Amino acid sequence: MSVSEGTSAADLTEVLGREGVCVVAGWATNAANLVHAKSMPVARTSAFVTAGAGMSPVHHGYALDGTIQLTPFYDAVGDLRMRLVPEAVRVLPGGLAAGPTHVVTQEGEPDPTAPRHVLTRVVERLGEQDLTALVGHELEFVLVAPDGSALPPGAWTPYGLSAVVDRSALIGELLEAADVAGLGIEQVHAEYGAHQLELSLAPQAPVEAADSVILLKTLIGIITRAHGLAASFSPVPFAGAVGNGAHQHLSLRSGGVNLLDDPPATLHQETAHGPTPTGGQAIAGILDGLLGAQAVLTGSILSGPRLRPGMWSGATLCWGTENREAAVRYLRAGPANPHGANIEIKVVDTSANPYLATAVLLGLALDGIEHELPLPPEIVRDTGRLDDAARAEAGLSLVLDDQETILDAFAGSVAERVLGEHAAAALLAVRLHEVTAFADLDAEQLCERLRLRWSI
Ligand code: GLU
Ligand code: MG
Repeated sequence: MSVSEGTSAADLTEVLGREGVCVVAGWATNAANLVHAKSMPVARTSAFVTAGAGMSPVHHGYALDGTIQLTPFYDAVGDLRMRLVPEAVRVLPGGLAAGPTHVVTQEGEPDPTAPRHVLTRVVERLGEQDLTALVGHELEFVLVAPDGSALPPGAWTPYGLSAVVDRSALIGELLEAADVAGLGIEQVHAEYGAHQLELSLAPQAPVEAADSVILLKTLIGIITRAHGLAASFSPVPFAGAVGNGAHQHLSLRSGGVNLLDDPPATLHQETAHGPTPTGGQAIAGILDGLLGAQAVLTGSILSGPRLRPGMWSGATLCWGTENREAAVRYLRAGPANPHGANIEIKVVDTSANPYLATAVLLGLALDGIEHELPLPPEIVRDTGRLDDAARAEAGLSLVLDDQETILDAFAGSVAERVLGEHAAAALLAVRLHEVTAFADLDAEQLCERLRLRWSI
């Protein structure tokens, strides 16, 4: 179904009815990256768009163990309205349609804790500087049994054709459903963890790109169920095994010029094509504020164990052209890269709220530009193979991998400012709770407990 910009509520009801939709779901995400929803019969779509559905503000405080963590900004009193965003509603299989909601107060003001609103605000700030961004998400997940237990290892080959053959029916149905929902899937492949697949989404404007992640996860939930399976979006589905990344490709443009592509730039390597000076400042801003932003990008109790060198999770705090061990991988323009030069933020994992993660990354980039931060030298060696001594000798360090340290680093950070006090408080409330809530579990128990926690 294609619903265009400015779609009215009445048009939407008609289109959905024609497509055989019975139920319309509208979602709102929270800082623990849980996806909440209210649904209405299709005949009530208009009311969903205009009056919205009621939602308690404590939905922001739901933590991974199902408890509610309050902040000074919300409690059990009061109500929010979830207003369906008509142009973003998509038809999914089984008579279902789904889309994001604008979460507003009863007076109709944007809810300052709502992640989609936080990102919208950052996009507006970029616009004030004549900047636009595109974001392309990658989504990794591990196929498991419906109860979360591991599938038999079988003949899984990392990046193997066999995996695609094994799962061709599931992949085919997923791509078809994605097509119907208007999602641009660019690529699908078997990752290097057993039964781990990855789908990459085409670049879109930041808010729409994050909407696409939620839609794609919903589709993955629908199609895996139909195949008697489930999908784990945990940063570490199985203790000791390779993790699930949620890498984000970003590019920034000003007046039609891609700031990450300066064809004659030979600053950092022999070959031409590097970031423009302003693009370099944006990368510098991301690196400079990255540790403080990890509470958003890698803030869950299972985020740290994923960030080990050698796992391609971007655990080294540096940037480098095509460097899979760098927190920020630079992809230069050229025939091999049809979308143009961009940076891939590899540290981000699947426990991160995609709206908040993009918001802080763009906020850091903006901060780097505003402060004209100098771009550090690029690192093109495989830092995943350095031991501690060699890393120190090279003047490099790893990103943080301990949840309490990560949450401490958020205090006073640029990321905290980008979120604003309401969303920052909600993030800390749900994440700090994880530190004590799961303290009694060993690594295996923790992975098992949270394996399906971020699945839809
Ligand atoms: N699974 C890796 C991660 O945790 C990423 C592998 C890759 O796509 O480079 O981020
Ligand atoms: Mg991957």
